[in-house]
Amino acid sequence: MGVKYSSFADVDIRAFDAVVVGCGFAGATVARELAERGGKNVLVIEKRAQIAGNMYDEFDDAGILVHRYGPHIFHTNDKRAFDYIRRFTDWRDYEHVVLADWYGTYMPVPFNKNSMEIAFGKERAAHLTDKLIATFGDERKVTINELREQDDPELSEIADFVYKNVFLYYTQKQWGLTPEEVDPSVTARVPVFISRDNRYFQDAYQGMPANGYTALFERMLDHEGIVVCLNTEAESVFDLRFFSDDEDAPLESIFIKDRRFDGPIVYTGPLDELFLSRFGRLPYRSLDFVYETHDQKHVLPCGTVNFTVTEDYTRITEFTYLTGQESDKTSIMKEYSHSYDDPKTQIPYYAILSEKNNAHYERYRLLVSPLENFYPLGRLAEYRYYNMDVIIGRALALADTLVG
Ligand code: FAD
Ligand code: UDP
Repeated sequence: MGVKYSSFADVDIRAFDAVVVGCGFAGATVARELAERGGKNVLVIEKRAQIAGNMYDEFDDAGILVHRYGPHIFHTNDKRAFDYIRRFTDWRDYEHVVLADWYGTYMPVPFNKNSMEIAFGKERAAHLTDKLIATFGDERKVTINELREQDDPELSEIADFVYKNVFLYYTQKQWGLTPEEVDPSVTARVPVFISRDNRYFQDAYQGMPANGYTALFERMLDHEGIVVCLNTEAESVFDLRFFSDDEDAPLESIFIKDRRFDGPIVYTGPLDELFLSRFGRLPYRSLDFVYETHDQKHVLPCGTVNFTVTEDYTRITEFTYLTGQESDKTSIMKEYSHSYDDPKTQIPYYAILSEKNNAHYERYRLLVSPLENFYPLGRLAEYRYYNMDVIIGRALALADTLVG
């Protein structure tokens, strides 16, 4: 059958039981579940010209499958989320490896026993590793913050090295902040790992959709109960009604095409943008992606190289490692991070977590919390740093509630 697309102008809103804003994993999972398990007719509106949110991939001019909104590798310990997406795709087993380019020498990230030998030489590394094991245990993960808190001079030597050579410059490029200034949960994503395991993730289930993410989304949305309107922005088609004219007065209802819409509205975009940023824009980091195609099989030694001490970009990803595509050519992508200043031309990729920003978000959330049929869901709408699997898990949980 294929995905059913419609222009928003042609939609008869009375035919729909639920509206979903945004077509990433949050939106697509809820839409599919409401349609399939709940037997609902679901209207999905998406402001971009295509489905799949940040997971969107397509073939470039050289015929290489590339990701257009950041490199996406699936990994999870949540069996339900894993089983759920495998319903819609064949699976390619893939375990991501990241190396840091340390002044031209490659060093595994997360920093581990192998990195230690590269940094300190075999003999000294053996001694320092024993110290780490004695303090934290073998095969343990330690955050850079925990390591830096240790008093022991040899542990401090390791902590200083990792801080300066793995975290400092990369974090400054990525966030415009030092590692001390970012929320501790951010650097904790990439711990020091007292192990020989060179994989970036240790989750039980890892890999990639065999035919790419866009193909996976096409199958998720291919259901008789789902209609997708692309190029449609929620703020242009929602008529928001508030309890009063007060700036902090919450939403009383949402009208769509002149009718009050009482079915579930699942919103997965940035919450501030729905309210035209009336309390000021929520801070995010945005990214620029620069692609290159080379007439050779591989440019990098593995899927991603992080530039932790040099270069303006944070990392380079080579897609054929991720996708397993065989070709004489290869396409790579450099990521440049910068502040998010203009919603018209930029995309909000990373919420900048802090007490101040979380409180700012909360002010927006209070505008929607009394509206019982409105559900903010996803990395943007919840202003959180969620991976794909968490989003799928949260979307399935919301669907459980809505379907009953
Ligand atoms: P999105 O995918 O962002 O989808 C939201 C959709 O809503 C978008 O299509 C957007 O256009 C649309 N939208 C927004 N506002 C409106 C509006 N007002 N009206 C209509 N439509 C709107 N996770 C992993 O698990 N593994 C990875 O390797 C990984 N790599 C990443 C790399 C980068 C650079 C980034 C930024 C993220 C990465 N993630 C990764 C996280 C992953 O992208 C998110 O978990 C996932 O995209 C969240 O899905 P979502 O549906 O909440 O949001
Ligand atoms: N990080 C770092 N150096 C690295 C890898 C990660 O400093 O080589 C820090 C940086 O602050 C980054 C965070 O750890 O933003 C989380 O890294 P991750 O790879 O999880 O980021 P993502 O893939 O989500 O962009």
